[in-house]
Amino acid sequence: MRDRDAVRAALEGVNVVFHQAAYGGYMPEMAKYVHVNSLGTAQMLETIRDENLPVEKVVVASSQAVYREGAALCPEHGLVFPETRPTEQLAAGDFSVRCPVCGEPSEPTATPEDAPVGGEMVYAITKMDQERLVLTWGRQTGTPTVALRYSCTYGPRQSVFNPYTGVIAIFCTRLLSGNPPILYEDGGQTRDLCFVGDIARANLLAATTDKLDGLPVNIGTGRPTTIRGVAEMVSSALGIDIEPLARGEFRPGEMRHLTPDISRASAAGYAPEVELSDGIERYIEWIKKQGSIRDYFAEAEEALREKRIVHEVK
Ligand SMILES: [Zn+2]
Repeated sequence: MRDRDAVRAALEGVNVVFHQAAYGGYMPEMAKYVHVNSLGTAQMLETIRDENLPVEKVVVASSQAVYREGAALCPEHGLVFPETRPTEQLAAGDFSVRCPVCGEPSEPTATPEDAPVGGEMVYAITKMDQERLVLTWGRQTGTPTVALRYSCTYGPRQSVFNPYTGVIAIFCTRLLSGNPPILYEDGGQTRDLCFVGDIARANLLAATTDKLDGLPVNIGTGRPTTIRGVAEMVSSALGIDIEPLARGEFRPGEMRHLTPDISRASAAGYAPEVELSDGIERYIEWIKKQGSIRDYFAEAEEALREKRIVHEVK
């Protein structure tokens, strides 16, 4: 994405761009995120416009990371959009999400696209850049564009060498190397895990319908699973009985709950097909063919502690 000539070559003869390339995860290199994700996307759009390339549509991979916290229901104030939980609160071992009006604990609910954005990680900031650059460029040039806000994506061919992204891949490599999956906070965070095939179907839909043009669109299954639940499902699918470990660590800026409201995509014909248990089986089938799996996570988490991306509860 940083190499203008490589991007130009990739655009040759292309009429629909599916822009999936990005630097991801919780890595400490701030500038690299901005270079790859923000600058890279801007350069690509500039190239298409300046060279009058015959691109008819751009679909960009955005992320649920752009939200600051999942939407919630307060018994008194109904649907609310909580702030990112303060680091001091997490350090005190309180992981709850509070109503922004009355400060009382809230219950998670599905997050619509019009929820406030403002995810507090460099990855999230640059994903928002990509989304806004593409949608704004689309309005300026008259080219149809769609930004798909993916939930946690997993599936065969997900890197087993990147210890920072992909909870299912990380838990698999931990368990296959005889180590317990590590849970941040208490493992009670919830996420929507979406099989890569369903994400691919969403891209094809976005390319072929005009109902989503000009919009950010949540893509996922719409169903939450706790991270502890994911660890248990992976462990049982592998037949490796090792309890997950919560060591009282947390990552500042991480959301507690996030499940997308997928009604915008559904109204355009999107329907996820792969159940989580089935998707995990398919991932494991693939990973077992990959030969020996080294656990990169131990090294990586040491680096994360040093860079203050992972903190301990006091
Ligand atoms: Zn309230």
